[in-house]
Amino acid sequence: MAQIPTAIREPEIKFTQLFINNEWVNSVSGKTFPTLNPTNGKTICDVQEGDKADVDLAVAAAKKAFEFGSPWQKMDASKRGALLHKVADLVERDRLYLASLETLDCGKSFKDAYGEMAAVSNFLRYFAGWTDKIQGKTIPIDGAFFCYTRHEPVGVCGSIIPWNFPLVLFALKLAPALACGNTVVLKPAEQTPLTALYAATLFKEAGFPAGVVNIVPGYGPTAGAAISSHPDVNKISFTGSTDVGQTIMAAAARSNLKRVTLELGGKSPLVVWKDANIDTVVEWAHQAIFFNCGQVCTAGSRTYVHEDLYDEFVKKAVARAKAKTIGDPFDTKSEYGPQVCEEQFNKVLELIESGKTEGATLETGGQRHGTDGYFVQPTVFSNVTEKMRIGREEIFGPVQSIMKFKDMEEIIARANDTKYGLAAAIFTEDIDTALTFTSRVKAGTVWVNCYFKTGPGAPFGGFGMSGIGRECGEYGLQAYTEVKNVVMKTSVKL
Ligand code: NAP
Ligand code: MG
Repeated sequence: MAQIPTAIREPEIKFTQLFINNEWVNSVSGKTFPTLNPTNGKTICDVQEGDKADVDLAVAAAKKAFEFGSPWQKMDASKRGALLHKVADLVERDRLYLASLETLDCGKSFKDAYGEMAAVSNFLRYFAGWTDKIQGKTIPIDGAFFCYTRHEPVGVCGSIIPWNFPLVLFALKLAPALACGNTVVLKPAEQTPLTALYAATLFKEAGFPAGVVNIVPGYGPTAGAAISSHPDVNKISFTGSTDVGQTIMAAAARSNLKRVTLELGGKSPLVVWKDANIDTVVEWAHQAIFFNCGQVCTAGSRTYVHEDLYDEFVKKAVARAKAKTIGDPFDTKSEYGPQVCEEQFNKVLELIESGKTEGATLETGGQRHGTDGYFVQPTVFSNVTEKMRIGREEIFGPVQSIMKFKDMEEIIARANDTKYGLAAAIFTEDIDTALTFTSRVKAGTVWVNCYFKTGPGAPFGGFGMSGIGRECGEYGLQAYTEVKNVVMKTSVKL
């Protein structure tokens, strides 16, 4: 990995208004909300608070920008790609600033934030390459007819994102929507609006016409609900919790049957088979749950270890967690920083308490770290079962739950004993074991001898209550287009 530059500890806050029609505006109500620094709970700045009236303005701008004859509608597909590449150039230019702002606003380690900015430009470039490759088919129907399909943009796309990977998820929503020729109204999470607001200016600087990209910071039940129930929003793409996903889908159905893709929660099993290399897999399993303070939808949050390796695994996993460096996220020696906000911090601590009272063995951690901010000690429980809340519910924190198993039938049944189905992993040297597990486990992504590995071309999404639809790659593009079938009478059989 390239040398990581020194972070800007106090990045200047340049934009705190709503971005509508390529302009910065105050909210109609004039209300603002604070965004906090999770390392100390103090306000970084106040941001304009969007609500229904602001969403109406943003949607109107997006609708106008999409209309027939607009600069965006008339733009060649290849030019759309060039503009997305230009935004990627600008993200690379401002990478240090953006990564510093991300760390300040959401508390993630600067090293990770810096890496994520590379992922942001990768997403933009990947989808930039698709703009002039979105094409239909000619279909040989019976008779003298010319039948073909067009993959047309859906229209105004609403996007609602969470706070755990703010700018990565921003890019993941915007890039495919724009690649297909749509326009967008996006609401960032209330905890982390700052990088999305700054990045909005990069779209303007790159030359995107007014109204194509609109950013409305605000709260979920107000601004978010206004987007998901708006009659002029044609598609909604949501990443967040399963409960809110259900609310959004109901609002989409009730309002105008807008198209819906949902990327929701998970409780993903990571299986350590009896032939796995224990030292290697202890580290993979550790990263699978502790990366980003456990605030990852695909986190390996149920660690299943074969009984032959169980005792040794627990000992080594505990030693690894105890060696973890926790602290100031701007310090590149810190492996992790605080949880994003007080609510998440309290939720994680409450679930840790439930683990203690429901009979799991607390091996290490289990408390708040320090006295300031929202830091939680790296925590490891052994003797966990799926009956316990920590074995079933998404904790979204630095809490490893280790469970013991015996054989394949048992592990398949237990891995699938969840309402979720986002990800799964197995560590084994045996190809039959790997293939049996990958074919029978119910999950949108299955890793073998690795974890979290993916790319912009690989489909991402969940089975069951982990979501609907797929993001990324060619599969992900489908959600951003409508297929139009055209049948033309011809004078001869073609
Ligand atoms: P959340 O509460 O569902 O919030 C996500 C977004 O939805 C936020 O912008 C939130 O606004 C908004 N929202 C809340 N209520 C809403 C409503 N009634 N209508 C419309 N929008 C509404 O999720 P979270 O707790 O912040 O994030 C953690 C969850 O996200 C976890 O469950 C995690 O698994 C999931 N996640 C999934 C993926 C994936 O790709 N599958 C990726 C990352 C995270 P506010 O800003 O006001 O909260
Ligand atoms: Mg914040």
